[in-house]
Amino acid sequence: MYKGGPSYTSQSAKIIRYAGLLVPIILVLYGLCIQAGLVSSIQYLNDVSFFALAFWLIVLGVIQFLSPSRTKLDSALRLIAYHLLAAGYLLFVFGIATPFAAFWILLLLASNTYFSRDGLNLSILWFVVVVAIDISFWHNISATIVAYDLVTLIAIILSGLVTLSLSLAQEVDHTALSKSKQQESLQRDRVLTIVNNLADAVLSTDMNGVIRVYNAASLNLLDTNDSLNGRYIDDLLKLVDQSDKPVSLFNQFKTAKGAFTRDDLNYVYDDGEEIRLEITYSPIRSSYSRSKKSETHDGYIVIMRDITKSKSLEEERDEFISVISHELRTPITIVEGTISNVQVMMEHPDATHLMLTDAMTMAHDQIVYLAHMVNDLSTLSRAERGVADTPEDIDVRELIHKLHDEYNKEATEKGLHLNLDIDGSLGHVYTSRLYLEEMLQNFITNAIKYTKTGSVTITVKQKLGVMEFTVKDTGIGISKSDQTKIFQKFYRSEDYRTRETTGTGLGLYVATKLAHKAGTKIKFTSRLNHGSKFSFTLPVKAQ
Ligand code: ATP
Ligand code: MG
Repeated sequence: MYKGGPSYTSQSAKIIRYAGLLVPIILVLYGLCIQAGLVSSIQYLNDVSFFALAFWLIVLGVIQFLSPSRTKLDSALRLIAYHLLAAGYLLFVFGIATPFAAFWILLLLASNTYFSRDGLNLSILWFVVVVAIDISFWHNISATIVAYDLVTLIAIILSGLVTLSLSLAQEVDHTALSKSKQQESLQRDRVLTIVNNLADAVLSTDMNGVIRVYNAASLNLLDTNDSLNGRYIDDLLKLVDQSDKPVSLFNQFKTAKGAFTRDDLNYVYDDGEEIRLEITYSPIRSSYSRSKKSETHDGYIVIMRDITKSKSLEEERDEFISVISHELRTPITIVEGTISNVQVMMEHPDATHLMLTDAMTMAHDQIVYLAHMVNDLSTLSRAERGVADTPEDIDVRELIHKLHDEYNKEATEKGLHLNLDIDGSLGHVYTSRLYLEEMLQNFITNAIKYTKTGSVTITVKQKLGVMEFTVKDTGIGISKSDQTKIFQKFYRSEDYRTRETTGTGLGLYVATKLAHKAGTKIKFTSRLNHGSKFSFTLPVKAQ
C-alpha cells in the first residue's frame, strides 16, 4: 500500500469509506426535498442537472464504499470527482450559504489524509474558486448571497484547519505514545535479560502470593523444569525454620513494610534434602500502582540464594573459635597460677628447691602443650589457606627412613619396637610434602603415645599404581563408641590411659583435613586393648 498523508491509517481509510457513501446520500435526500418543492432554494438550476449530479454522486459513493481505492492515482481521481460533484451541487442545487457547505470540511480532511499538505491546499483552492464563481454569478442579483458566501468560505476554511490541527496534534501524541511504548518494551527486555542472568533466584508474585514472573535461577534453585507461573508461593516454597517448624512466606510478606532479609530459613526438597536460604522479600510499589493508597502495593518480589555452604563454614568457624578459646584457657590458667606460686615461693625462706622445680616442670609442660596446640592450629590454617600445598616429587623410601630415625629414639625409650615394613622397590609420589609428613607424624606419635608394650610398625606397600601407607600398633586400642568421635576436633578418649598422656585432640582432625586436601581418605581399624591400624593411599607417580 502506498504511503498517504500524515494521518493515513487503516482506521482513517475506513472512516473515509463510510463517509464517502453517507454524505452523498444525505446531500441527495436534501436535493430531493428541494426538487419536490418542500424546501426552497433560489440556486436550484433544473431537474436535469440535479438528477445528473445526484446520480453520479451516488454512483461514486457506492464505488468508494464497495471498492476502496488501492492506488494513488485511483484516490486522486476519486477525490477530483468528489470535488467536482460537490462544486456542482453547491453551485446549482442548494447554494454555498447553506449548512451543507460544511461537508466540504470532509473533503479537506480526505485530501489531507491521502495527499498531505498539497492535497489540502488544492482542496482549499478549489473551494475558493467555487465561492468565486458563485459570487461572480450572484453579485448583481443578491448581495446577501455574496456576504453569506464569503462568511461560509472563511468559516469552512477555519473549521477545516482547526480540525486538521487537532488531528495532527493527536497524531503527534500517538507517535510519542508508540515511541514511549517501544522504549518501555526495550527497557523491559533489558531488565528481563539482567534478571535471567542473575545467579540469584528472583520471583515475583501478585498480591495473593501467586507467582507471575520468575527467572532461570529460580528453576535451578528449586531443582525443577516445571513452569512456576500461577503457583501459590507457599505451596512451592516449603520453608522451615531452625527448629524445623514450617514457615509461611506469604504470612511474612504481609507484615513486610519494605525490603526484609532472612538467612535462618531452610528450603526442603521433595526427597527431604534441605538447603539454607538467604531470602529477601519486598512489596512491589510501582508508580502506576492500581491502588492509590501508599500503604498498599501490587505484589511482592522474592530474591533467594543458597547459603548452605557459607553458613555451615561460618558456623563451623564460630564453634571452632569458641572451642579453641576454651581449650586455651585451661593451660594458660595453670601456667599463670603456677608462675605466681613460684613468685610467692621464691620470697618464702621455707620453699625448697624441689618445690620450685616441680612447679616449673608443671608450667613447662603446659607451655609445651600450648606450643603443640598452636603448631597444630597453624598447620590447619596453612592447609585451609592452601599454603604449602604445592605438590612435589617425593621419594617415599627416603621419607619413611627419615621419619623412622626421628621417632626411633622416642619409641626405644618407651621400650617399644619401631618396625619398618616397606616394599623392596618403592616408587615416588607426587603430593605436598608437608601434608604427607604431617599425616604420618600424627599416626606415629599417636601409636607411640597410646602403646605401653609391644611395637609400632610403619608399612608402605605399592600395588597397581597405588601406594598404601599404614601405621599399626599393639597399644590400648580405641573403644567402639570412641571410634566415631576421634576425628572430631579436640576430642580425646575418656580412657584413663589416654588421660595419662598429654594431647590436644587436634592431631587426627588436622590429619583428616590434610588427607582431604591431598585427595585421599583415612581408614582405620582398632580393637580395645589389642591395638589400632591407621592407613591411607596415594597414587604412585608415573616414571
Ligand atoms: P594431639 O595429637 O593433638 O596431641 P591427641 O593425640 O589426643 O592429641 P588425636 O591425635 O586427634 O589427639 O587423637 C584423638 C584421640 O584418639 C586420642 O585422644 C585417643 O583417645 C585416640 N587415639 C588416636 N590414635 C590412637 C591410637 N593409635 N591408639 C589408641 N587411641 C588412639
Ligand atoms: Mg595425636
